[in-house]
Amino acid sequence: MSSIQNKLHEIKNSLPESITLVAVSKTKPVADLMEAYTAGQRVFGENKIQEMTDKWEAMPKDIQWHMIGHVQTNKVKYMAPYVSLIHAVDSIKLLKEINKQAIKNNRTINCLLQIKIAEEDSKFGLDKDRAIELLNSDTFKAFKNVKVVGLMGMATNTDNQKQIATEFDFIHSLYHNLTKVYLEFTTLSIGMSGDYPLAVERGSTMVRVGSKIFGERIYK
Ligand SMILES: *Cc1c(COP(=O)(O)O)cnc(C)c1O
Repeated sequence: MSSIQNKLHEIKNSLPESITLVAVSKTKPVADLMEAYTAGQRVFGENKIQEMTDKWEAMPKDIQWHMIGHVQTNKVKYMAPYVSLIHAVDSIKLLKEINKQAIKNNRTINCLLQIKIAEEDSKFGLDKDRAIELLNSDTFKAFKNVKVVGLMGMATNTDNQKQIATEFDFIHSLYHNLTKVYLEFTTLSIGMSGDYPLAVERGSTMVRVGSKIFGERIYK
Protein backbone atom coordinates (compact mmCIF):
# COMPACT_ATOMS: atom_id res chain seq x y z
CA MET A 1 0.00 0.00 0.00
CA SER A 2 1.20 3.52 -0.78
CA SER A 3 1.60 6.15 1.90
CA ILE A 4 -1.53 7.96 0.67
CA GLN A 5 -3.52 4.74 0.94
CA ASN A 6 -2.12 4.02 4.40
CA LYS A 7 -3.04 7.45 5.70
CA LEU A 8 -6.49 7.23 4.16
CA HIS A 9 -7.17 3.89 5.84
CA GLU A 10 -5.83 5.16 9.15
CA ILE A 11 -8.18 8.15 9.11
CA LYS A 12 -11.15 6.13 7.84
CA ASN A 13 -10.67 3.58 10.60
CA SER A 14 -10.58 6.31 13.24
CA LEU A 15 -13.90 7.83 12.10
CA PRO A 16 -17.37 6.61 13.04
CA GLU A 17 -19.05 5.10 9.97
CA SER A 18 -21.69 7.81 9.89
CA ILE A 19 -19.09 10.51 9.16
CA THR A 20 -18.37 11.40 5.54
CA LEU A 21 -14.69 11.88 4.77
CA VAL A 22 -14.02 14.44 2.05
CA ALA A 23 -10.49 13.90 0.71
CA VAL A 24 -9.24 17.42 0.02
CA SER A 25 -7.04 17.03 -3.04
CA LYS A 26 -6.43 20.63 -4.09
CA THR A 27 -3.03 21.23 -5.76
CA LYS A 28 -2.39 17.46 -5.91
CA PRO A 29 -1.92 15.60 -9.21
CA VAL A 30 -4.50 13.16 -10.59
CA ALA A 31 -2.08 10.27 -9.87
CA ASP A 32 -2.36 11.01 -6.13
CA LEU A 33 -6.14 11.18 -6.31
CA MET A 34 -6.19 7.87 -8.19
CA GLU A 35 -4.32 6.22 -5.33
CA ALA A 36 -7.04 7.32 -2.95
CA TYR A 37 -9.68 6.26 -5.49
CA THR A 38 -8.15 2.80 -5.79
CA ALA A 39 -8.29 2.52 -2.00
CA GLY A 40 -12.04 3.14 -2.19
CA GLN A 41 -12.31 6.91 -1.71
CA ARG A 42 -15.17 8.42 -3.74
CA VAL A 43 -15.61 11.91 -2.24
CA PHE A 44 -13.05 14.56 -3.18
CA GLY A 45 -12.87 18.24 -2.26
CA GLU A 46 -11.32 20.99 -4.37
CA ASN A 47 -11.24 24.76 -3.93
CA LYS A 48 -10.76 25.96 -7.52
CA ILE A 49 -13.42 25.35 -10.14
CA GLN A 50 -11.03 25.04 -13.10
CA GLU A 51 -8.82 22.54 -11.31
CA MET A 52 -11.82 20.52 -10.12
CA THR A 53 -13.30 20.44 -13.63
CA ASP A 54 -10.00 19.23 -15.12
CA LYS A 55 -9.87 16.43 -12.54
CA TRP A 56 -13.55 15.56 -13.07
CA GLU A 57 -12.83 15.15 -16.78
CA ALA A 58 -9.75 13.01 -16.15
CA MET A 59 -11.14 10.70 -13.48
CA PRO A 60 -13.79 7.96 -13.10
CA LYS A 61 -17.35 9.20 -13.14
CA ASP A 62 -18.53 7.65 -9.87
CA ILE A 63 -16.69 10.31 -7.85
CA GLN A 64 -18.58 12.93 -5.87
CA TRP A 65 -16.92 16.30 -6.33
CA HIS A 66 -17.27 18.82 -3.52
CA MET A 67 -16.43 22.49 -4.02
CA ILE A 68 -15.04 23.58 -0.65
CA GLY A 69 -13.58 26.96 -1.62
CA HIS A 70 -15.03 30.41 -2.04
CA VAL A 71 -17.07 30.53 -5.26
CA GLN A 72 -17.18 33.38 -7.75
CA THR A 73 -20.64 33.79 -9.25
CA ASN A 74 -19.39 33.89 -12.84
CA LYS A 75 -17.74 30.47 -12.50
CA VAL A 76 -20.70 28.48 -11.18
CA LYS A 77 -21.64 27.42 -14.71
CA TYR A 78 -18.46 25.37 -15.17
CA MET A 79 -19.22 23.01 -12.27
CA ALA A 80 -23.03 23.04 -12.44
CA PRO A 81 -23.26 19.91 -14.64
CA TYR A 82 -21.51 17.66 -12.12
CA VAL A 83 -20.77 19.19 -8.70
CA SER A 84 -22.17 17.12 -5.84
CA LEU A 85 -22.02 19.63 -2.95
CA ILE A 86 -20.99 23.29 -2.69
CA HIS A 87 -19.74 23.93 0.86
CA ALA A 88 -19.08 27.65 1.08
CA VAL A 89 -22.24 29.48 0.06
CA ASP A 90 -22.50 32.81 1.82
CA SER A 91 -24.89 35.00 -0.17
CA ILE A 92 -28.32 34.98 -1.74
CA LYS A 93 -26.71 36.28 -4.94
CA LEU A 94 -24.60 33.15 -5.19
CA LEU A 95 -27.59 30.90 -4.44
CA LYS A 96 -29.52 32.63 -7.20
CA GLU A 97 -26.80 31.85 -9.74
CA ILE A 98 -26.47 28.25 -8.53
CA ASN A 99 -30.24 27.85 -8.91
CA LYS A 100 -30.12 29.31 -12.42
CA GLN A 101 -27.31 27.02 -13.53
CA ALA A 102 -28.98 24.01 -11.89
CA ILE A 103 -32.14 24.70 -13.91
CA LYS A 104 -30.06 24.88 -17.10
CA ASN A 105 -28.66 21.46 -16.27
CA ASN A 106 -32.03 20.06 -15.27
CA ARG A 107 -30.87 19.10 -11.78
CA THR A 108 -30.87 20.14 -8.15
CA ILE A 109 -27.59 21.28 -6.60
CA ASN A 110 -26.96 20.69 -2.89
CA CYS A 111 -25.26 23.45 -0.91
CA LEU A 112 -24.10 24.29 2.61
CA LEU A 113 -24.18 27.74 4.13
CA GLN A 114 -20.78 28.80 5.37
CA ILE A 115 -20.99 30.22 8.88
CA LYS A 116 -18.23 32.49 10.15
CA ILE A 117 -16.98 30.93 13.36
CA ALA A 118 -13.29 31.91 13.34
CA GLU A 119 -11.74 35.04 14.79
CA GLU A 120 -9.72 35.91 11.71
CA ASP A 121 -11.19 38.56 9.44
CA SER A 122 -10.05 36.71 6.35
CA LYS A 123 -12.48 33.82 6.77
CA PHE A 124 -15.64 34.10 4.71
CA GLY A 125 -19.08 33.26 5.97
CA LEU A 126 -22.41 34.44 7.29
CA ASP A 127 -23.15 35.22 10.89
CA LYS A 128 -25.97 33.39 12.61
CA ASP A 129 -28.66 36.03 12.08
CA ARG A 130 -27.87 36.50 8.40
CA ALA A 131 -28.01 32.75 7.83
CA ILE A 132 -31.43 32.46 9.46
CA GLU A 133 -32.65 35.53 7.56
CA LEU A 134 -31.48 33.99 4.28
CA LEU A 135 -33.19 30.65 4.95
CA ASN A 136 -36.43 32.41 5.84
CA SER A 137 -36.45 34.78 2.89
CA ASP A 138 -39.06 34.47 0.14
CA THR A 139 -36.31 34.96 -2.44
CA PHE A 140 -34.56 31.84 -1.21
CA LYS A 141 -37.77 29.84 -0.93
CA ALA A 142 -38.49 30.53 -4.60
CA PHE A 143 -35.26 28.76 -5.68
CA LYS A 144 -36.51 25.31 -6.60
CA ASN A 145 -33.29 23.79 -7.95
CA VAL A 146 -30.97 24.55 -5.08
CA LYS A 147 -31.17 22.73 -1.77
CA VAL A 148 -29.40 23.89 1.38
CA VAL A 149 -28.64 20.68 3.28
CA GLY A 150 -26.63 22.06 6.18
CA LEU A 151 -23.79 24.24 7.40
CA MET A 152 -20.04 24.49 6.96
CA GLY A 153 -17.48 26.18 9.17
CA MET A 154 -13.73 26.71 9.54
CA ALA A 155 -12.35 27.14 13.02
CA THR A 156 -9.60 29.60 13.90
CA ASN A 157 -6.12 28.39 12.99
CA THR A 158 -4.80 28.07 16.55
CA ASP A 159 -3.36 25.51 18.96
CA ASN A 160 -5.94 26.56 21.54
CA GLN A 161 -8.19 23.48 21.62
CA LYS A 162 -10.63 25.19 23.95
CA GLN A 163 -11.21 28.00 21.49
CA ILE A 164 -11.69 25.58 18.57
CA ALA A 165 -14.13 23.54 20.67
CA THR A 166 -16.12 26.68 21.49
CA GLU A 167 -16.32 27.58 17.80
CA PHE A 168 -17.45 24.07 16.85
CA ASP A 169 -20.03 24.08 19.66
CA PHE A 170 -21.42 27.36 18.36
CA ILE A 171 -21.99 26.08 14.81
CA HIS A 172 -23.23 22.72 16.05
CA SER A 173 -25.83 24.39 18.24
CA LEU A 174 -27.04 26.52 15.31
CA TYR A 175 -27.10 23.43 13.08
CA HIS A 176 -28.99 21.42 15.68
CA ASN A 177 -31.65 24.12 16.06
CA LEU A 178 -32.06 24.45 12.29
CA THR A 179 -32.53 20.69 11.82
CA LYS A 180 -35.79 21.04 13.74
CA VAL A 181 -37.16 23.51 11.19
CA TYR A 182 -35.39 22.45 7.99
CA LEU A 183 -35.88 18.72 7.59
CA GLU A 184 -33.47 18.62 4.64
CA PHE A 185 -30.61 19.57 6.97
CA THR A 186 -28.37 16.49 7.17
CA THR A 187 -24.83 17.83 7.01
CA LEU A 188 -22.51 19.70 9.34
CA SER A 189 -19.16 20.13 7.58
CA ILE A 190 -16.53 20.91 10.22
CA GLY A 191 -13.05 19.54 10.82
CA MET A 192 -9.79 19.60 8.83
CA SER A 193 -6.44 17.82 9.22
CA GLY A 194 -5.55 19.67 12.42
CA ASP A 195 -8.88 19.52 14.19
CA TYR A 196 -11.11 16.78 12.77
CA PRO A 197 -11.07 14.47 15.86
CA LEU A 198 -12.30 17.41 17.92
CA ALA A 199 -14.90 18.29 15.25
CA VAL A 200 -16.23 14.72 15.37
CA GLU A 201 -16.54 14.96 19.15
CA ARG A 202 -18.45 18.21 18.69
CA GLY A 203 -21.06 16.88 16.27
CA SER A 204 -19.50 16.99 12.81
CA THR A 205 -21.12 14.78 10.13
CA MET A 206 -18.55 15.56 7.43
CA VAL A 207 -14.82 16.24 7.74
CA ARG A 208 -12.59 17.79 5.07
CA VAL A 209 -9.10 16.34 5.34
CA GLY A 210 -6.28 17.23 2.95
CA SER A 211 -2.66 17.35 4.09
CA LYS A 212 -3.12 14.49 6.56
CA ILE A 213 -3.91 12.22 3.57
CA PHE A 214 -1.93 13.68 0.67
CA GLY A 215 0.94 15.42 2.50
CA GLU A 216 1.73 19.10 2.75
CA ARG A 217 0.73 21.26 -0.18
CA ILE A 218 3.31 23.21 -2.12
CA TYR A 219 1.88 26.40 -3.61
CA LYS A 220 3.67 27.68 -6.67
C1 LIG B 1 -7.67 23.16 2.20
C2 LIG B 1 -8.95 23.06 2.94
C3 LIG B 1 -9.20 21.99 3.81
C4 LIG B 1 -8.19 20.89 4.13
O1 LIG B 1 -7.13 21.42 4.83
P1 LIG B 1 -6.04 20.43 5.54
O2 LIG B 1 -5.57 21.22 6.69
O3 LIG B 1 -5.00 20.17 4.52
O4 LIG B 1 -6.76 19.21 5.94
C5 LIG B 1 -10.44 21.93 4.41
N1 LIG B 1 -11.39 22.86 4.19
C6 LIG B 1 -11.17 23.90 3.38
C7 LIG B 1 -12.26 24.89 3.18
C8 LIG B 1 -9.97 24.05 2.73
O5 LIG B 1 -9.76 25.09 1.91
